[in-house]
Amino acid sequence: MFCGFIRTHCYKVAITALAALVFLEYGFGVFYEERGRINEAYFTFNLTAPRLWVPSTLQNSSDVSYAATSNMTLIALQSSNSSDPYQLDLLVDSLNFTGKPLVCPLVSPLLVGRTNVSKIAMPMEAFQEKYGPLLGPGGRYRPPDCQAHYKVAIIIPYRKREEHLQLFIQHMHPFLQRQQIDYGIFVVEQSGDTPFNRAMLMNIGAAEALRQDGFQCFVFHDVDLLPEDDRNTYSCPEQPRHMSVAIDVFKYRLPYEGLFGGVSSMTTEHFIKVNGFSNLFWGWGGEDDDMSSRIKYHKLIISRYPPSIARYTMLSHKKARPNPNRYRVMRNGAKRSKVDGLSNLKYKRLELEMKPLYIHIVVDIKPS
Ligand code: UDP
Ligand code: MN
Repeated sequence: MFCGFIRTHCYKVAITALAALVFLEYGFGVFYEERGRINEAYFTFNLTAPRLWVPSTLQNSSDVSYAATSNMTLIALQSSNSSDPYQLDLLVDSLNFTGKPLVCPLVSPLLVGRTNVSKIAMPMEAFQEKYGPLLGPGGRYRPPDCQAHYKVAIIIPYRKREEHLQLFIQHMHPFLQRQQIDYGIFVVEQSGDTPFNRAMLMNIGAAEALRQDGFQCFVFHDVDLLPEDDRNTYSCPEQPRHMSVAIDVFKYRLPYEGLFGGVSSMTTEHFIKVNGFSNLFWGWGGEDDDMSSRIKYHKLIISRYPPSIARYTMLSHKKARPNPNRYRVMRNGAKRSKVDGLSNLKYKRLELEMKPLYIHIVVDIKPS
């Protein structure tokens, strides 16, 4: 009779047993633990920051629980759900490795959007007192709480614009810090009275920056343009990015489509690919359009943020006399790009100073 019972109810028993197995596996991971999945991790590390960092995507997640003892030793990190085991894995790795969190959020929580640009600088000493402690030698900055996505060199071609430089520095540090970018500001000054060569100074800035660190991209920046909106991120662009799209003195309208002057950014890879800027533009104008044609010639495209965000205030200065030769130099520019640029860059570096707020490079350059 008992055997008969088993036979008739055999399939029910089998199903119940199977259900129990499935329950045990899904609930507790008894039989099989996915590689890389963290159910529970115990470890210690020393946090320098007086708070526990958890990626913002996980902060409100009920799937994650974490606890810290009073001396900020993380004692447990648990996930009951493996929906994002990878992220947890990385978090644990990064905490173990550096005591610092992993990557910063894609959109910085510190952004404030559009702001008024101040044209009144505070005394440099006062600014330095406030911002200096956050900065490394040469004014280098890294977000203290997370790993920046980008390491960016800001390159400023410069000569005799002290007032602009002071405002620029005071505007840019807080601006870039709100964007959680790892950055350095390289002010490349042309000595003497030879005609100004903006493009060559930018080539030099890029070359000098790469001697110092593995910057992934450059932002080539006129000293007199101040960004009005921190959603205009100084990140590394997939395609060369023209950034100063909407400038107050041009009624916030792009003057012409191929424009690449003012503020623009390129990855190190693309910049090297196009052989940097031409070294042949002495005096005002042409070098930015020449870069535009290099970009097209190398099958890259100029990208832009919307004009509602890519807004700039220009500081006033006397208009320079345009170089009348620029059109002649621009002819065949793209084809010349192979032999005119980073590959034949020559300069005499007179000074390299790691100042508290920026890196100051003074060069002597001449037409070759
Ligand atoms: N610049 C400079 N000193 C000069 C000329 C130019 O520092 O004597 C730099 C500065 O960064 C400036 C940029 O080159 O913002 C572009 O020059 P300028 O402002 O004269 O050009 P424009 O605004 O007329 O296009
Ligand atoms: Mn200007």
